[in-house]
Amino acid sequence: LLHKGSGLQVVVGLGQSGLSVAHYLAEQGYQVAITDNQENPALADKLPATIDIRQFGAIDAELLQQAARIIISPGISLDNAAIAAARAANIPVVSDIQLFCEACTVPIIAITGSNAKSTVTTLVGQMAADAGINVGVGGNIGVPALSLLSNDKMELVVLELSSFQLETVTNLGAQVATVLNMSPDHLDRHGDMLGYHQAKHRIFQGAKSVVINREDALTRPLVSDSLPRLSTGIHAPNKGHYGLITDAAGQTYLARGTEHLISADKLKIKGRHNLLNAQAALALGELAGLPLESMLNTLQQFAGLEHRCQYVATVAGIDYFNDSKGTNIGSTMAAVEGLGAVYAPKDGKLLLILGGQGKGQQFGELSPFINQYVSQVLFIGEDSQQIEQHLRAAGLSDEVSLHQCQTLEGAFAMIEQVTASSLSQVQAVLLSPACASFDQFNGFVARGEHFSQLVKQLDAVSQ
Ligand code: ADP
Repeated sequence: LLHKGSGLQVVVGLGQSGLSVAHYLAEQGYQVAITDNQENPALADKLPATIDIRQFGAIDAELLQQAARIIISPGISLDNAAIAAARAANIPVVSDIQLFCEACTVPIIAITGSNAKSTVTTLVGQMAADAGINVGVGGNIGVPALSLLSNDKMELVVLELSSFQLETVTNLGAQVATVLNMSPDHLDRHGDMLGYHQAKHRIFQGAKSVVINREDALTRPLVSDSLPRLSTGIHAPNKGHYGLITDAAGQTYLARGTEHLISADKLKIKGRHNLLNAQAALALGELAGLPLESMLNTLQQFAGLEHRCQYVATVAGIDYFNDSKGTNIGSTMAAVEGLGAVYAPKDGKLLLILGGQGKGQQFGELSPFINQYVSQVLFIGEDSQQIEQHLRAAGLSDEVSLHQCQTLEGAFAMIEQVTASSLSQVQAVLLSPACASFDQFNGFVARGEHFSQLVKQLDAVSQ
């Protein structure tokens, strides 16, 4: 065994990433053990046969104490008692991303942020592929990072990284790194905004160039001024940087310096937040050496991802949008503002479905956006009472009606009642819960699909 002398590698957590770590380390010839909270992890029979130390049902603190290195899954907190004890005993704790960046020999485009990670990662990956580059896309999206290493023709990697994957990463050394934006999320695990910020900014360690969002000071890295950098924003950009320019006729363009690149209405993805996402992709691609012309072609084709402000159908004159991936207040603000601005000129308002597991967020920050664009708020899920209290405490206009509905079914019954009255002004229904879904669903995909299903039923009934 090649690495047998390097001591026992203990993998904590058997999800997709834990499984990829177990395979990778076993192939490298390490002695590997695995432990997981669940009694019978679903993926256990996919483990390599050579791994015979398997402790399931609880994270095995004694096993961890025997480790030369612990590889932790993103779903497991560093505050877990067994993990904390191992760290106190100076046993290194890393994520799969650490193993990946130590083994990866091709340039990495590294992307994190509170929102828009998957959208920008997918778009940059598509830009690279369309430019004829053999690119691997993974990390927090699609395949675990280590699985990408099996492609020995790979020339470039685009990695989506979560704060959990980053909190144990040292010296990632990306070709280009970015924090797209920062809004409160996962504070239940990172403790406070500072901890969350510190975790995300580890993405800049060893980076050769960076992309900065001028609209969000919290994305600015503490790196040397001499490091190549490009910025993105909603105003006219300085020379070489990205931004937006509106001409005398009122037409908005994506711009690089004074150069108009493409008019905003040529893009399939809509809303101001998506114009920032498009710029981020262009800037990341530029710093990784992708040709601009080809990137602009890809951008024009890109239709966005499912469950992100996705148009579902129009029923009885009302448009339905599925933004189930809106799992924090930052994404819900972007969705309400982005879509609200589309209906406001037609005197239309949004009906917003909010709620689920609140993750300790301050929902009052949504109130000004609701006052401006929403006439009806329907609450579902575990933390719905608390969310209503936060919204009220932050000051809601008298013109906004609130309804506790508990479930999506309840919400759809209410939608029929509310929209029967023309006074409601509702022209669009938006599911953008600002919450995790696990109280009622298997994840945001199941929640979004259930929503779309209910829209289809409504459509069938109304015909
Ligand atoms: P992530 O992978 O970071 O969760 P996604 O691309 O899946 O990001 O989008 C998550 C949510 O954020 C969606 O609801 C989407 O509409 C919203 N969103 C997309 N771009 C932005 C942005 N620039 N700022 C805020 N929210 C955004």
